[in-house]
Amino acid sequence: MPDDQQDFIPPAKPYLGEEEIEAAVAVLRSGMVVQGPEVAAFEEEFTKVSGTAHCVAVNSGTSALQLALMAMGIGPGDEVIVPSFSFAASANAVRLVGAEPVFADIEPGSFCIDPDAAAALVGPKTAAIMPVHLYGHPADMTRLTALAERHDLAILEDACQAHGAQVDGRPVGSFGAAGTFSFYPTKNMHSLEGGMVSTDDAQLARTLRLLRNQGMEQRYQNEIVGANMRMTDVSAAIGRVQLGRLDGFTEQRRANAARLDAGITSVTTPPVAPGARHIYHQYTVRVPAEARDRALEQLKAAGIGSAVYYPIPIHKLAPYVGLGADLPETDRAAAEVLSLPVHPSLTAGDLDRVVDAVNALELN
Ligand SMILES: *Cc1c(COP(=O)(O)O)cnc(C)c1O
Repeated sequence: MPDDQQDFIPPAKPYLGEEEIEAAVAVLRSGMVVQGPEVAAFEEEFTKVSGTAHCVAVNSGTSALQLALMAMGIGPGDEVIVPSFSFAASANAVRLVGAEPVFADIEPGSFCIDPDAAAALVGPKTAAIMPVHLYGHPADMTRLTALAERHDLAILEDACQAHGAQVDGRPVGSFGAAGTFSFYPTKNMHSLEGGMVSTDDAQLARTLRLLRNQGMEQRYQNEIVGANMRMTDVSAAIGRVQLGRLDGFTEQRRANAARLDAGITSVTTPPVAPGARHIYHQYTVRVPAEARDRALEQLKAAGIGSAVYYPIPIHKLAPYVGLGADLPETDRAAAEVLSLPVHPSLTAGDLDRVVDAVNALELN
């Protein structure tokens, strides 16, 4: 328990309001709960976030990645260059389609894939690059797009943490052959569980629709081998309400981050690259590696929930051990990062408490 009797400030706070509940109940009462008109409307409305001609809804962000890779024709014998400093889903999706992840190091400022490191890993088996817009900061899509064009590689953007992030005014999810979004409850918007693939390619969108539904467009006229990765209309109805809140949520996150930036003096606050619009899925600072456990404890004692994303880079997780031996910036980030509360439910008083507690950390 916090010793000062103040409320504990959680590191994340999924929002589920009355409108979401009413929208879900309306679908339940209609009796038509599986993929239907709510999913179609959610897809259409989400194109405004992704900036693409098409969106295809699925049951999770991981499914979105897996299905996008399948639709792009990536499979056994192919390599996909991914950052090791991400959630395991980024690499798992590559393995799930039978391809091999090749782990690239990150840029220390953005925590996203380093285009030079990615370039050094391109080989005869490389089929695609998967930038991850980590914490809501966009990867360097200008340089990555140039790299992909130079070597005739596809790009699949993992935008699962980056709904509404932009590079030079252009939304993430619109740069690659496809982009993917997650609607898990802790993400910037949610649909209980859910995911979305964005693309400008009508043919790819059609393939994605087939793949998520057993390869069928017309019932029982299966055209290809597919999975069942459909989103329910209950989820889509919740997602549509959340989508209506997304701009407000994002502005609040950005305002909260600005307040933390202005107040925190004791540690390195998250830099933003020129032209980047950061949407602060996480607000992640660096602390000296040897002081991080103590910092977590001290923040907890002050009633502030902080968290480490991700303490173990993917190349050190059991399924991937032995890949990506030399990733110094990845290893350093995994040892130093600490994410502070930045979610839209924070009050001005909460933010002041976070700033004061961080500035009071004993880091030496
Ligand atoms: C959350 C997340 C995913 C997976 O999304 P789910 O909806 O949980 O399957 C993939 N990549 C990244 C970077 C994520 O943060």
